[in-house]
Amino acid sequence: MGFFLMVLCQLIVIKVNMASASENVSSNRCKILIIGAGMAGLSAASHLVKNGVTDFKILEAKNRIGGRIVSINTGNHKVELGANWIHGVLGNPMYEIAMANGLIDIVHVPKPHKVVAATEDGKQIPFQVLQEIYEAYVCFLRRCEEYFLCHYQPPTGINSVGEHISLETALYLEGSSNDEERNLRQLIFDCLLKRETCITGCHSMNEIDLLELGSYTELQGGNIVLPSGYSSILEPVSRQIPQGNICKRRVVTTIQWHYAGEYRSADITSPGGDSGIDILANGDPGNDSDDSDRTVTGEQPRRPSEASSRGGSSEKEFQSAVSEDEKNSCLNLNQCEESCGEMLNVNSENKGINTSEGCEGSSASFCQRHQNGSSGSSKSKSVELVPNVEVICEDGSRYYADYVICTFPLGVLKEKASSLFSPSLPQYKLDSINRLLFGTVDKILLEYDRPFLNPDISEVMLLWEADVEAATGDLSETWYRKIYSFSKVSETLLLGWISGQEAEYMETLSHDQVADTCTTILRKFLSDPFVPKPKLCICTSWHTQPYTRGSYTAMAVGASQLDIENLAQPLYSSPQQKKPVLLFAGEHTHSSFYSTVHGAYLTGRSAAQLLLGSDSPQERVLECEGTSDLSSWIQGISLD
Ligand SMILES: Cc1cc2nc3c(=O)[nH]c(=O)nc-3n(C[C@H](O)[C@H](O)[C@H](O)COP(=O)(O)OP(=O)(O)OC[C@H]3O[C@@H](n4cnc5c(N)ncnc54)[C@H](O)[C@@H]3O)c2cc1C
Repeated sequence: MGFFLMVLCQLIVIKVNMASASENVSSNRCKILIIGAGMAGLSAASHLVKNGVTDFKILEAKNRIGGRIVSINTGNHKVELGANWIHGVLGNPMYEIAMANGLIDIVHVPKPHKVVAATEDGKQIPFQVLQEIYEAYVCFLRRCEEYFLCHYQPPTGINSVGEHISLETALYLEGSSNDEERNLRQLIFDCLLKRETCITGCHSMNEIDLLELGSYTELQGGNIVLPSGYSSILEPVSRQIPQGNICKRRVVTTIQWHYAGEYRSADITSPGGDSGIDILANGDPGNDSDDSDRTVTGEQPRRPSEASSRGGSSEKEFQSAVSEDEKNSCLNLNQCEESCGEMLNVNSENKGINTSEGCEGSSASFCQRHQNGSSGSSKSKSVELVPNVEVICEDGSRYYADYVICTFPLGVLKEKASSLFSPSLPQYKLDSINRLLFGTVDKILLEYDRPFLNPDISEVMLLWEADVEAATGDLSETWYRKIYSFSKVSETLLLGWISGQEAEYMETLSHDQVADTCTTILRKFLSDPFVPKPKLCICTSWHTQPYTRGSYTAMAVGASQLDIENLAQPLYSSPQQKKPVLLFAGEHTHSSFYSTVHGAYLTGRSAAQLLLGSDSPQERVLECEGTSDLSSWIQGISLD
């Protein structure tokens, strides 16, 4: 009797589970899934909403939106841990959004930025020397950019920006009258190169491809700081996105983007059946389209030399890819992020941003294929009913959609691309992911009780003696020599930048250790033993962050704009589809605005636009609300 009751209870539980699973699959089913709620994901979502499409969900690993746009409140300051400046005015959609939403203070005239440069023994360099070297340096950099813009050939054996600048520096310094003068000037060049690694996003400028430096397009108008911080742009960008569409703490571990294809080949039970699940046709009739300019798995890799021979994919290629996929289709679901810790060890979660869990009721762990057969629902070949994509999260939840827009940062792709996608991404994409650089750039913020730097000074450049780093090779002894300056955010808040391996080493230290080291540095360079200890030290850890794994994209030696285009290329899971199933957005997919927020914004919008078609109401123009869109015009100019 007891046994009979137990079996009965289990049956009831199974039935209840199946019923709730049915409900969950319909709540976890949408037209479009967007992975990541950084600027690219938010921009894609907001573009869909503006065009009348709300049948989408954003799956975001963290408990906040914004990605690499994030701020924290320290009590006295709102501190931006990621993006800081709107780079350029003309044609920059972020500037346009900020203007349209009153985030830019056009009346406020910023204080002049006064820089001093000091050596390790506390001597200040005459400003004229600093200016002279700075002007020479800017010329060297512009010449590097010309290789891309004018298609010049570089000197034999010189492949990187660092090597080219070293060559020019050596020639320039030949004109110095004595060793002391030469050494001093060399220290300034070294400092400017360290600064350049933070701007570019690399360890050393020797890593950056000389021929591609000019591929980054600088928009005119300088760097704009929003008085309320860059993160205040998140509100207008996300305002129209229904909160329920944003699912936080959803760490995506697998994207099965041949999901419908697997149903087709297995001729298995449709999950629709009599379960009451409303799985709509995906809008792709699947029989009448031309695939001549599309990428399906199996397309030939696009190497730079083959750029012009980029062809379509044949049915044969598609089929061969499917059989390859079948071999690789068994994924290790345990291969996911171990933790979802925030960027900072302390105090780090963004206090100003809504942290409520979205996507109620979406934590189901429901697999349609498990239901097949056991539910007894009808057998069908009606493939239109089957979603193209199944997305599996770390917590076991599953989501189904017709299209998925992936905005994983390049660092995440570098680490996990081979396990994130089933079938695996085509080899040409994996090669491009490897070729591009995703360097580390971190911030060190020091907050003080009282001001101690001369109010006229806004930045102190640190002219470290050369070659100490090379001599020891021990990062624990030398990491801090990569900090090239401390600048004032306010009279009581200083900001230092650090890049590359030294930044990654710093991420392993406690904030107290960093604070002590910075105090020693400031006392030395300012020749002032009374420089106080900061009351608070905040260091970012972009490399350690599991959902970023670095700071931003750069063109490594051997990489090119084509690699970015390869990353941006959307994929079709079948040659018959009208629209791609797997789309990519994010700063790393913009061929001239990579590494920036506006690059991320534009790629998100383009991906969404690709999915807006005849099956969605009233396609509207690409524009920010209340603003004109000059970005494509600007791009046109710069690329011609
Ligand atoms: C220190 C620093 C300073 C910067 N300064 C500037 C600046 O001044 N100006 C400028 O224009 N740009 C700046 N940038 C670059 C800018 O922040 C980025 O280019 C831009 O924000 C990238 O947006 P994105 O949407 O492409 O990526 P992200 O913002 O990184 O968004 C990707 C999202 O995907 C999520 N995600 C990752 N993995 C998963 C997963 N498995 N499952 C679900 N979700 C996942 C992440 O949590 C994240 O929210 C800076 C960046 C850094 C780090």
